Amino acid sequence: MNDLACDAIGEMVASVRDVTKVYRLGGEDVKALAGVSIDFFHGDFVAIMGTSGSGKSTLLNLLGCLDRPTTGQYFLGGRDVATLDDESLSRVRGRYLGFVFQSYNLIQQLSVVENIMVPLAYQRPQRPGAKDLCIRLAELVGLAGRLGHRPNQLSGGQQQRVAIARALVNNPHVILADEPTGNLDTATSMEIMDLLDALNRAGRTIVMVTHEPDIAARCKKVISLRDGRVESVRHASEPVP
Ligand code: ADP
Ligand code: MG
Repeated sequence: MNDLACDAIGEMVASVRDVTKVYRLGGEDVKALAGVSIDFFHGDFVAIMGTSGSGKSTLLNLLGCLDRPTTGQYFLGGRDVATLDDESLSRVRGRYLGFVFQSYNLIQQLSVVENIMVPLAYQRPQRPGAKDLCIRLAELVGLAGRLGHRPNQLSGGQQQRVAIARALVNNPHVILADEPTGNLDTATSMEIMDLLDALNRAGRTIVMVTHEPDIAARCKKVISLRDGRVESVRHASEPVP
């Protein structure tokens, strides 16, 4: 798993400080996050839990720099994200973050290997050996026999494996995943968790949203949100308070 290895276990990789997020909806304010402070360390394997509407996706979107907090600060790789211009932000984002979504978000016209290559397409000039890297990543996530398949020729679990390989292509410190097993049956969900677990053991930091307790139990740390606040932080092996 050398391609998937990542150093610097124990250092802080991301930190949100007193973050709020207020959405204005039809003249009314919706406070999706009401003051959240969390530190994420290299090597963490974190589940973010909470009922629907508790702010999980909002928090993950802020962590992914897909959105900005209303107040409070977000440090990624030691840098205050608010101080970065667009170019620095996309560089820091590319270096630190890979994304996995519930619905895979693959491009139907592209093969497995081509889908994995998509994040590299933004890099000019094209990195030498890019295709070989993508083939290796496809093999690492268990798709050696499926390199030329299109998404509609794959099962849901296989499609999520493609998405995970795509998230790894820029060798990010952190994988952010919003309900990555939300569309999968239990057995396939556990296979995807086996893969995420292997990535984490190789040093990759993983932050995932889930509302399924048996999925959260496979992580190391569980952060529960309620009404936009952190309700509890516990080790996955501790009982739910
Ligand atoms: P979760 O992922 O835990 O279900 P979200 O983070 O999606 O929760 O949403 C938290 C709260 O913010 C909810 O009350 C939701 O309705 C609201 N919200 C989320 N996104 C928006 C938006 N773009 N505009 C207005 N309200 C939003
Ligand atoms: Mg959500």
